[in-house]
Amino acid sequence: MTTIINVNGRITPARDAVVPALDHGFLYGEGVYEVVRTYHHKPFLFDRHMARLRRSAASISLVLPYDDDGFAARIRETADVFFRQPDATGDVYVRLLVTRGVGEINYNPAACPTPTVVVIVKAFTPLDDEAYSKGVRAALVPVMRNHPDSVSPLIKSNNLLNNALAAQEAYRRGAFEGIMRNYRNEISEGSISNIFVIKNRVVSTPPIDAGLLAGITRGFVLELGPLAGVEIREATLHDQDLLNADEAFLTSSTQEIVPIVQVDHHQVGDGRPGPVTRSLQATYRTRLREILG
Ligand code: PMP
Repeated sequence: MTTIINVNGRITPARDAVVPALDHGFLYGEGVYEVVRTYHHKPFLFDRHMARLRRSAASISLVLPYDDDGFAARIRETADVFFRQPDATGDVYVRLLVTRGVGEINYNPAACPTPTVVVIVKAFTPLDDEAYSKGVRAALVPVMRNHPDSVSPLIKSNNLLNNALAAQEAYRRGAFEGIMRNYRNEISEGSISNIFVIKNRVVSTPPIDAGLLAGITRGFVLELGPLAGVEIREATLHDQDLLNADEAFLTSSTQEIVPIVQVDHHQVGDGRPGPVTRSLQATYRTRLREILG
């Protein structure tokens, strides 16, 4: 089955999907996006993703062309074409992008009267089971997370070069994810995920003030503490908190909760996914089933 892409209402296989070279999303990375995955064909936490898309768009003075129902309809019509393929079954990965649109080569938003809306629908391919059962290696990379007064990490923007550089450094070191620090040398987040550490059964994740994307999964996991019987809090973290942690994990919408068992050459805890992480993974699944009904 092939990936299906909707560019301003033109729905085609990926190879035929085109965005004009004068689109400011291409020229300047001026745009915002969201990634949602479905479970049993239902998008998970869609409202929260849409709320974040609106906040991201407002931060770059981009007026979104649809309300949430409008975006849901654009996604549905794209997914309908995807599922017309006989071999398309199962869940999908949905990437929704809105860019400034096509215009003259200058930074004036007035140059681009109409935003470009792109919906990418592709088969959802989960991580290998091994990532969950054995855990993954993270690398503390030298690429600094953007200063909040630069391109704020709170904006989920298409301008992803900083994240890509962090991921490249991690891959060079054979790691699954690159963890960035902020300008104060505190731990902020990964290139595509948020990070949590566990010490003495207390789960901590850096506060928003550390300069990071307010991950939807991060927010969801912060709500799971009482259900899982553990304390989960926001706290400033440094390298030593990660290196000396009993357990650590990454979160993202597509990967849920991924245990970290090694950071560069340091083993985390006993080098295996720990009990608190496993309990949170189970609680996550329980809440997910309750919410999706
Ligand atoms: N941080 C960054 C930089 C990301 O790109 C992502 C993935 N969107 C996340 C965190 C995780 O966010 P979410 O839980 O909303 O997928």
